Amino acid sequence: MPERRSRQLTLFLFFFLPLTLLLWQWQAGRDVQAETAVVTPTLLPTHTPTQTAVPPTATQTPTPTATQTPTLTATQTPTLTPTNTHTPTPTLTSTPTKTPTPIAKDCSQAPLRPEYRHYYLSGTPWPVPDPTVPGEHFWLERPFPGNGRFLINQSFPYGYDNNNRLLLHNGVDSAEKLGTPLLAVADGTVIIAQDDENDWFGWRCNWYGHLVVIQLDQTWLGQPVYVLYGHVLNITVTAGQRVHQGDQVAEVGFGGAALAPHLHLEVRVGQNAFGATRNPMLWLRPPETRGLLVGRLIDPLGRPWQGVRLDLVNDKGEIVATTWSYVDDPLDIVKINPDERWAENFVFSDVRPGSYVLYTKLQGVEYRLPVEIVGGQIQFAEITTEPYKTPTPTPVSEAQDAP
Ligand SMILES: [Zn+2]
Repeated sequence: MPERRSRQLTLFLFFFLPLTLLLWQWQAGRDVQAETAVVTPTLLPTHTPTQTAVPPTATQTPTPTATQTPTLTATQTPTLTPTNTHTPTPTLTSTPTKTPTPIAKDCSQAPLRPEYRHYYLSGTPWPVPDPTVPGEHFWLERPFPGNGRFLINQSFPYGYDNNNRLLLHNGVDSAEKLGTPLLAVADGTVIIAQDDENDWFGWRCNWYGHLVVIQLDQTWLGQPVYVLYGHVLNITVTAGQRVHQGDQVAEVGFGGAALAPHLHLEVRVGQNAFGATRNPMLWLRPPETRGLLVGRLIDPLGRPWQGVRLDLVNDKGEIVATTWSYVDDPLDIVKINPDERWAENFVFSDVRPGSYVLYTKLQGVEYRLPVEIVGGQIQFAEITTEPYKTPTPTPVSEAQDAP
């Protein structure tokens, strides 16, 4: 009966689906807690960030970004009630001398989860966009059958740590039923199809459970491109095998760090390494009914603001999407890398076409930038903030010095 079916659907949509997502979030959080609990704090004794007291402007060569002037028009901005309940005080680094800490990859211990920094201005300039590079490279089709839905977990995008709850994400996640077929997203050659019980492919051994890596036939600016499927089950390909787009390679599973079935998808450029990832949403062809907003949130010296909330607001003043500017890994294990063309540090994906205002608030200043999202395409936006303001120290009461 259609009525019963619609009741079942309602039950699924409003009860089981949210429950599953909640469970997933909780489990993911629990996994990290459990993981951070077992590792010994003696693992990375050499990690001493050399934070010299040199003010960041002293050694910075300002990056000329004069061509990318944003049009911050204050005229057509709707009145907006931001839901930013907290504005953390931003911190500013001095120019860090990056000494890569070698990680012992012997599978006995995992690195500690670093304290990721939010509302933080990096001391190092971010790459600048290169207009000579092709803007769109949607080489990857959807990994599920029937060109089906591909619902990205928007609260855990590429380059974010789910508000300090998880390890920095170097891919994107899509919750799917256990056993959903996983398809080759492009033509290529399988180079890895195995478990990582005793191999270091991710943050630690047994991170992905089972994984498949395909090296694409195409190269990007002379560099090889790899696509990684994590937490998979029932792998049906072997290393060395050629695959064509649409061929089944495995099924959705929940091995390794995952405790609920989902696909973790990575795009790696240059080398098949944990630190060589890019934002997969810039590679997956969006449907015609959805577009992307790719952007930069930087200070006047071209330094990226990290872990800052950004909202897309529709003409009714409603927030329709939220993301966060890329967070950096102070240990440099996970590197969050921008695209050569855009040099982005945030991406809104799966946005319905239409007019929006990009909104953020930093150091007490609100920024609003009108943007137009077009289906199947990438739009670019850049917000250059006001110069970094050193927080004013709390004045000491003069009364106590008075005679
Ligand atoms: Zn993931």
